[in-house]
Amino acid sequence: MTGKIVRIQRFSTTNGPGLRSTVFVKGCPLTCHWCHNPEMQESKKQLMVYPEQCKACGFCVKTCENGGHSFVDGKHIVDRTNCVLCGKCEQMCPHSAIELAGQDVEASEVLERLLRDRPFYDSSKGGITISGGEPLAQFNFTKELLQLCKAEGLHTCLDTSGWGGRAAELVEWVDLYLWDFKESDPERHKYYTGVELEPILDSLQKMNDAGGKCLLRCPIIPGVNDRDEHLSAIAELANRMPCIQVIDLVPYHRLGVAKADAIGMHQDEFSSLTQEEKDHFLSVVTAKTNTQARWI
Ligand code: SF4
Ligand code: SF4
Repeated sequence: MTGKIVRIQRFSTTNGPGLRSTVFVKGCPLTCHWCHNPEMQESKKQLMVYPEQCKACGFCVKTCENGGHSFVDGKHIVDRTNCVLCGKCEQMCPHSAIELAGQDVEASEVLERLLRDRPFYDSSKGGITISGGEPLAQFNFTKELLQLCKAEGLHTCLDTSGWGGRAAELVEWVDLYLWDFKESDPERHKYYTGVELEPILDSLQKMNDAGGKCLLRCPIIPGVNDRDEHLSAIAELANRMPCIQVIDLVPYHRLGVAKADAIGMHQDEFSSLTQEEKDHFLSVVTAKTNTQARWI
């Protein structure tokens, strides 16, 4: 089965236990305002250009037959109008300033690449993580890749928003879900993520009832969901759902802003929480639940 991925990140330490390889799939039905991976929202390929890495060598200008790159007053201008996403400029750039995000791959081919790092997974009690984008938006590809990994005895994590209502169908092949829970107020959830909250909660309930386990990953975004009521709701959710092993509070970071620029989009920037605010929000959670909670 063919799927579309953006990249495989090796030796990752933030996407589940131990050392892991994380497969980032392309395409997500959510449009979170603070998205860390905006280049993975669209399901189609996209040209990414990082101006801060460009050394103005001009190779891409000479290479592109469609006028995709030019320099005006020393500034690198990207014109995507006639870009056919051939990837020639990416191949020619000696400074990794260009990336074509999105490659079609067979699940078996991804497995082959993942297995090369098996000694690292084994020695660190790690494994593989499928993330994105939203892996459930490529359900059949994700399922096949999980099945192949489990057949090889690898530990598997699935990083998901729970979108699509089918997360529970994969319980047999997912050792640990990394469940991104973004907002507890239905109206705000719809506004900030583009999708309804209720189906996400239904999906979590089904996964819980099917015997799955998860880390509840909660991005705390200043001005969006940094409210005591939301932190309390997270604790109450953990009390209702035994599947939630740990509550991970995830601080906002600005990575998405630069990546949105690289694909020719704009992303609003948010501020950072102070240590005092982080301590406070953690205390709000721990006051209401016995489930382990931490900042990651
Ligand atoms: S991907 Fe191809 S068409 Fe697009 S800018 Fe690069 S060389 Fe030009
Ligand atoms: S090939 Fe790379 S480094 Fe050279 S001008 Fe183009 S983007 Fe910049």
